[in-house]
Amino acid sequence: MATIDIAAARGTLLFDGDAGWDAARGTFNLLHDQQPAVIAMPTDEREVAAVVRWAAASGLRVAAQATGHNAGPLGPLAGTLLLNTSRLSGMRIDVGAQRVRVAAGTKWARVVPALSDAGLAALHGSSTDVGIVGYSLGGGLGWLARRHGLQCNRVTAVDLVTADGDLIRADAVHEPDLFWALRGGGGSFGVVTAIEFAVLPLPAVHAGAMFFDFAQAPAVLRRWRDLLPELPDELTSWASVVHVPDAPFMPEPVRGRSFAVVSAAFLGDDATGRALLAPLRELGPVMDTFAMVPPAALGTLAMDPEEPLPYMSGHAVLGGLSDATIDAAMAVLEPGGALASLQLRHLGGALGRPAPDAGARATVPGAIASFAAGLVVDEAAAAHVPAALDRLADAVAPEAVGALPAFVEEPSEAARFHDPATLARLRAVKALYDPADRIRGNHPITPAAA
Ligand SMILES: Cc1cc2nc3c(=O)[nH]c(=O)nc-3n(C[C@H](O)[C@H](O)[C@H](O)COP(=O)(O)OP(=O)(O)OC[C@H]3O[C@@H](n4cnc5c(N)ncnc54)[C@H](O)[C@@H]3O)c2cc1C
Repeated sequence: MATIDIAAARGTLLFDGDAGWDAARGTFNLLHDQQPAVIAMPTDEREVAAVVRWAAASGLRVAAQATGHNAGPLGPLAGTLLLNTSRLSGMRIDVGAQRVRVAAGTKWARVVPALSDAGLAALHGSSTDVGIVGYSLGGGLGWLARRHGLQCNRVTAVDLVTADGDLIRADAVHEPDLFWALRGGGGSFGVVTAIEFAVLPLPAVHAGAMFFDFAQAPAVLRRWRDLLPELPDELTSWASVVHVPDAPFMPEPVRGRSFAVVSAAFLGDDATGRALLAPLRELGPVMDTFAMVPPAALGTLAMDPEEPLPYMSGHAVLGGLSDATIDAAMAVLEPGGALASLQLRHLGGALGRPAPDAGARATVPGAIASFAAGLVVDEAAAAHVPAALDRLADAVAPEAVGALPAFVEEPSEAARFHDPATLARLRAVKALYDPADRIRGNHPITPAAA
């Protein structure tokens, strides 16, 4: 029977009304209002274990959270202890071994510049404000994905506190089934206290963005789509239609304007990168930032907002992108409409081939991942944005083939993200490590029936 270190647990707890309560329950999407029963802010793994045991003894479930970037699916958190990991800090980079170990509260922003200075790169995504653990557990789709796959399959070891409050290590040798589940199965299996992963040597990358007049968007999307089959795995490109908010956090040259944008990262030299993207450049971008840049530049290439915002979003993985789909989507994305952006990410390449010894998310089926968002700043937007997202979902429905949990920001069935065999195995692992379903992941895996 596990003992509870009451003093260690209590020292970390916040209750409604305590100083720091609102900051600790804050989310990236300002539409969410988390009201957990209690919040814990442990500073080390011993405190995490004490908190998890205390929660179990108190009849509370536990939801781990680092940044609140995917808080939406969790809902208001009644009857749940919110375990805020932001005080679990620490980072070790082994340049020679190309390995990184970080504590669970670490954001990509801490690691990416340090790696870049050492000529290394990680498989982070569009925003370095995102937490490394949440991103890695959910899959992790970034700029180098077509050549190097998903971040979850770069993970080499995970330290975690189980639902019973035991600290264990999962890697290829220890707890191999749990290690498999953690790599793409999400945060349902325990509270991660630290994670280790492999990184790549990368002194420089050819990357940038071409901005086109918004009127050219249908032509740009068609040209991008036609180019995709010719692009090597070394090149990952994203096409977007964006109405840039007229807000101070946006860079001056783009603020308040509408564009079609093609951004890309190419693992190769400048001349080859330019030749590969020449058919797009022929359309005459009004701004073109492509250059050889250090890998840290990929952390801001997508110009993701880093300050919390109120927004709603929609996502689908598409098998293709027909002219009819482009036109139907563009009809929803018109200037003055409810949506701020539609982003289309080229998939394929390594994403379609299972990595050797891959975890639960071995591949990403489909050709393109779409993600759209609209700001909800008033009551009118609260009505118009969901209606526009529904229209967009209808527009892409003929080509929708699936979804990735990282891009779904509302509650959703696990069967939407995993094939039946993978889901059955994930549920069996959950039953082994958390049969009472105490740990709440954002996209939960429920335990298989005994
Ligand atoms: C602006 C923005 C840009 C994004 N860009 C990308 C992208 O390019 N590619 C991509 O793949 N995804 C992207 N995402 C999605 C992102 O990967 C997910 O939202 C991810 O879950 C965020 O992790 P987090 O820890 O920051 O968020 P949190 O909301 O803090 O955590 C999300 C979930 O992760 C799990 N979790 C976190 N910490 C722990 C822990 N210590 N132990 C156990 N479980 C834990 C929990 O289930 C938690 O609910 C983006 C999201 C946003 C908002």
